[in-house]
Order: sequence, then C-alpha cells, then structure tokens
Amino acid sequence: MDALRTARALDAAIASLGPWCAAHGVDAGLVERGFLQVSAAPSQDDAWLESTEACARVGEGERWRAQSSAEVATRARSPVFRGGAFMPGAATVQPAYLVRGLRRVALEQGIVIHERTTATLPDDPARRHGAYWGRGPIPIATTSAEGSGVLAAGEVVVATNAWAAGWRPVAGRLITWSSYVVLTEPIPDRLAEIGWIGGEGIADARFTLHYARTTADGRIALGGGGGKAGWGGRIGRAFTHDDRSARRAAEGLRRWFPSLADVRIEDAWGGPIDITDDHRPWFGTRPGGRIHHGLGYSGNGVGPAILGGRILAALATGRARDDEDASLPIVGDRATPRGFPPEPLRGLGARIFREAMVHREQAEEAGREPSRAIRAVTRVPRRLGFHLGPE
Ligand SMILES: Cc1cc2nc3c(=O)[nH]c(=O)nc-3n(C[C@H](O)[C@H](O)[C@H](O)COP(=O)(O)OP(=O)(O)OC[C@H]3O[C@@H](n4cnc5c(N)ncnc54)[C@H](O)[C@@H]3O)c2cc1C
Repeated sequence: MDALRTARALDAAIASLGPWCAAHGVDAGLVERGFLQVSAAPSQDDAWLESTEACARVGEGERWRAQSSAEVATRARSPVFRGGAFMPGAATVQPAYLVRGLRRVALEQGIVIHERTTATLPDDPARRHGAYWGRGPIPIATTSAEGSGVLAAGEVVVATNAWAAGWRPVAGRLITWSSYVVLTEPIPDRLAEIGWIGGEGIADARFTLHYARTTADGRIALGGGGGKAGWGGRIGRAFTHDDRSARRAAEGLRRWFPSLADVRIEDAWGGPIDITDDHRPWFGTRPGGRIHHGLGYSGNGVGPAILGGRILAALATGRARDDEDASLPIVGDRATPRGFPPEPLRGLGARIFREAMVHREQAEEAGREPSRAIRAVTRVPRRLGFHLGPE
C-alpha cells in the first residue's frame, strides 16, 4: 500500500506540472506522450515484468503495460529493440526551460535567489550529524565572487543533489557517478524514417542505462549511464569533462539506430548523480528539527523533485504531521538508506563495480558471455545487501 501511495503521489506530481506551467505562463517544453522501456539485448528481456505484473495486480495495469516487439516498433524501429513496456502517463520536459520558469516565478513572488554562491553549514561538533540544537538563526557561510558572508536562516533545506555526498551527515549513504548526454543535429526526416515521431521518452533496461528523447526541433538527446564513479564526495571535472563517457553515450546511440551513423553529434555534456543503496530518494530532518534534506534521486529526479519540493516545504514549515506527502515511506528515519562502506572502499568499490557493469552489459549486447571475473564483481553489491546491479 505504501508503494502504491508513493507511486500515486508521484503520478499526481507529474500531472500537476502542466497546470502549473499554464497558470504561470511557463513554457517548459512539456511533452506528455509517455515512456517506453525496451529490451536491447536478450539479457534485458522482461526486465519490467515484475513491475508490470504488480501494476496489474493492483488494478493499474494500463499505466505500465508490457509490449510485444511489434508494439515497440510502432513507436520506434531499431534492429536491437525487442519487447518493452509502455507508461502512457509519463512526460518529458526541457529541464533548463523549467528551471528558468521556476526562477522567474520565484522572483515575482519576492523570493531572493543568491546565484553562483556556495553555501556551507558550519561543521562544529554539535552539528556533526547535521544536528542543530540552537534556538537562534542558523548561520550559513556564503562564498561568491563578490566575497563571503553569513546568511541567517530559521530553517535550512539541503537540496544539493550529488554535492551532498560531500556533506558529512549523509555522505556515507550516497555514492556518485556521472552520466553523459549526446545531442544530434536536427534530423526530423530521419526520425520519421525510424518511426520515432510520437515524442515518447525511451530507455533500455541496462543497469548502466541508455535514456533518450526527441526534441522540439527534431534532434535526439541520448544519455548513457556509463560514466565514472566519484571519490570522497568531491564533484570534479570527471563529472563534466570526460570524453570517454560521452563517447560511450554516442556508441549507445549508434547501436540503437545504426541507420543514423552519418548523423552529426553537435553537443555533449555530463553531470553528477547521487545513488542510494536502493535508488530511492530520501527526505528527512536532522536532529534538532531545523535542517532538512531531500537527496538521493539516483538519476531520476526531474519528476520526483516536484513531489520532493512539497515534502520539503511540509518539513520546513512544521506541517509534516498532517501532510499526506510527508507521510510517504521515502520520508524520515525509516527511509534512511543503508550506509556504504567508508572511503577508500566506497569510491574504489563503486569504480570497480561500475566499470565491471559497463563491460558486462557491453558483452551481453554484443552476444558475448561476460567473463566469470566480471560477473562475480557485478554481483558483489547484491551479496552485500545493496539493491544495485544484477542478482
Ligand atoms: C546528464 C544527466 C542526465 C539526467 N537525466 C535525467 C532524466 O532524464 N530524468 C530524470 O528524472 N533525471 C535525470 N537526471 C537527474 C536529475 O538531473 C536530478 O535528479 C535532479 O536535477 C535533482 O534535482 P535537485 O534539485 O535535487 O538537484 P540539482 O538539480 O542537481 O540542483 C542542485 C544544485 O545545488 C547546487 N549546489 C551544490 N552544492 C552547493 C552548495 N554548497 N551551495 C550552493 N549550491 C550548491 C548545485 O550547483 C546545483 O545547482 C540527470 C542527471 C544528469 C547529470
């Protein structure tokens, strides 16, 4: 029931975006045309079955339904797509347009935004676990090109995504890795050739997944989860300037659609994502009751952050007790993710596991048997009780 409540709350959050954009005159490039998960190799077949069957059991079978390869081909034709599953209620946005719209509306409502400013919660012993027992305003150190200062806040919300891996109270519960996206030149005619004209988002069922969408001007943006794992909570250049990870994303695009081999890739970019032990986000309040956090979206935060914002608003304004969203199982102590081993094991383990996963999945896609050593490494997280990687 808790899972169903959470799924419904997420659904409602996504459905609320269109009316919000309309009410505030924001064009976020919202396309409500659903999401298609595909198998792009035999090892990915039926990856959705457990969840499509669970939806059917609770009477929501139409919201996430398995598709035959022929049905998949009506949405996009690829020589490597096999079966799939379709979620009609899903949507895509242009996240930069959404952020700019949110910024404008916030400013109109009198909210002060300090851009390009680093905020640091003082790290004294009383606050080691993010606790703050003082009664007065919480001092937050700020640094920007204009200089440094101190901001006094009644309540603090830490919503720094992957950067929170460097915040001591939660650092041990997050690992980070990068994801890179490549963007083609505009190819509306070529999209028509492969039959991908419905505006659906598409992802395969790899652990280091490929995820893709078309754009309003007829491009493909495809991301690959084959980027590097981070170290010690630091977010450095490897998260934004790693050519190899961008090339891996490009290879994924060519594999899905070999007929587009001659299409130019015009841009590529990458960024960090924060991963919890089971890929669920985690919202909560630190001891003392005034520092709140929303973290661990595990690379899937664009829609969930709408719900996350509501939860954090309830926590920060003292309404959590009566708030339906704040009662979800992704909030509070019971949602605390399992801790990862300390550094250097955390970073080293994440790097070795991640590279092994990429090699395993590349081999499976090429029809080769991954080596025993690679298979053994990819199974380690599950053996240790983390919900990461294959069984
Ligand atoms: C390449 C890539 C592709 C992605 N694709 C998808 C996708 O297709 N679908 C999806 O749902 N999600 C996707 N994600 C994940 C998604 O972007 C995140 O889950 C989402 O942005 C989380 O929102 P957020 O507001 O919590 O954090 P963010 O949007 O990351 O914002 C956190 C902000 O905090 C700032 N910050 C950090 N530390 C400090 C500090 N000390 N002081 C002040 N500011 C600080 C950062 O600069 C950043 O601007 C992708 C991520 C990447 C990198």
